[in-house]
Amino acid sequence: MQHLRLELHFILDTAFHTTGNRWRWGADKALAMAPDDTYVIPATTLKGTLRDRAEMLLRTWGQDVCSGPTPNTMCSEPDRLCPVCQVFGNPRFPSPLCFQDGRFEPDVVAQIRSGISISRQRHAALPRRLFFVETTSPGPLEAIAICEGYFPNRESALLGCALVILAAQWMPAVGGGRTRGLGWIEKIKVEVTLNSEPVPQQQLETLWREWSGGHNVAED
Ligand SMILES: [Zn+2]
Repeated sequence: MQHLRLELHFILDTAFHTTGNRWRWGADKALAMAPDDTYVIPATTLKGTLRDRAEMLLRTWGQDVCSGPTPNTMCSEPDRLCPVCQVFGNPRFPSPLCFQDGRFEPDVVAQIRSGISISRQRHAALPRRLFFVETTSPGPLEAIAICEGYFPNRESALLGCALVILAAQWMPAVGGGRTRGLGWIEKIKVEVTLNSEPVPQQQLETLWREWSGGHNVAED
């Protein structure tokens, strides 16, 4: 088995919000929190956003990928999975990669923002539609998220590595409220090891070039 470990370092330009299942006095939408009472970017949010990006990029390049999130439009045969399902899994096939919650470093404090719902037809505020959202303090913020797992061979591990890095580089924002300017990513740096060794950039570039149809992603 091949052990792949990716450490994603995020720098967020703006405050972050993803609605958790907590209740907080004064907020209609409270932030997601880890069991130790710190604010986090939930693992499911990270994985979902990266999967969406990977799917979108490969499809743009004409690669054969299935479309989520409904199980009957996703790959069904375990030995004929598209690259996205091989790396991120689907309802029938668990992902080899396990994502951890993204941790803010240093820890962040929260604030309450108000917003109003605007009618698209009348371009005016809808009556009685004032709401309150709990967000992190304003950016820039730094967060670190780790994902790791075991792949059956080097080839599949490299595919996982190349796809996560590619999706991360093309991820403009994470979490909810993007149109209200929340969760915009300034940059993501990915540190990666395969069996505790660094992964040669050249091997990843070969895969990116294949997917993009001969164009070198790094040079374009
Ligand atoms: Zn698939």
